[in-house]
Amino acid sequence: MKKWWIQSLQFTAAVAFMAAAFFAGRQAAVTVSVTNQETDAKAKYCVVVDAGHGGDDPGKVGINGMLEKELNLQIAKKLAVFLEMADVEVVMTRTEDRGLYEEGTSGKKAQDMKRRVELMETHAPDLVISIHQNSYGDETVRGAQVFYYTGSAEGKKLAQILQHRLVEGLDPANHRMEKDNDSYYLLKKTSRPIVIAECGFLSNPDEATLLCDPLYQEKAAWHLHMGIMQYLNDI
Ligand SMILES: [Zn+2]
Repeated sequence: MKKWWIQSLQFTAAVAFMAAAFFAGRQAAVTVSVTNQETDAKAKYCVVVDAGHGGDDPGKVGINGMLEKELNLQIAKKLAVFLEMADVEVVMTRTEDRGLYEEGTSGKKAQDMKRRVELMETHAPDLVISIHQNSYGDETVRGAQVFYYTGSAEGKKLAQILQHRLVEGLDPANHRMEKDNDSYYLLKKTSRPIVIAECGFLSNPDEATLLCDPLYQEKAAWHLHMGIMQYLNDI
C-alpha cells in the first residue's frame, strides 16, 4: 500500500494532466473552428469536369467494343471524387449516360456542345477539364495526350502539368507532349482555362484493356487531380 500523500500527489497530477488535456483540446477545437471559418470565408476553387459524349453519341468505339462515352464518365466521376476530397467545388456536365440535348431536337450534337459551353461559362470555374479517349487507324499508336487552345497561356500551363503527371504516373514510355489545337469546339468557345485530356487510345488493344480497368481509371483520375491541384496552388 502506497503512502496516502504519494497517492494524493499522483491523483493531483492526474487531475492536472486531464485538465491540461481538456483545455488543450478546447484550444485545438477553437483553432480548428477559426481555420474552418477562414476557409469558408475564402471561395473554394471550382473545376468543371466534362465527361465527353453521352447518350446518342458514343464517341470512339474501342477495339474491345468499349464505348468512349462510358469510360469518359467513369474516369470523370473518379476525378470528381478526388477533387471534392481536396475541397474543390466540382461541376460535372453530366453524371449519367445522356447528352445535354433535348430528345427530338434535330441538331443534338450542336445543342449538346453549346450547352456544355454555357455551363462552363455560367459557373466561371478556375479551370475546365474535358475527359476523352483517343483512337487511330494504326493499332500500335498509344499514350495519353492533353490538348489546349492555341495561344492560351493558362491552358498551355495546365496542359503541360497534366501531360507530365500522366506520363509519369501512367506510362513513362509515353513520349507524347501536350499539344495545341485551334479547331475543337470546346477549346474555341470556352473563355476559362480549358484542356482536353485524352487518357489513351481505344484503338490500341493493351491500352483499351487498361482503360477499362477500374484501378487504372482511378490511377488516371488521381494523377489528373494531382496536376489540377498543382495548377490551382500556383494561380
Ligand atoms: Zn471524344
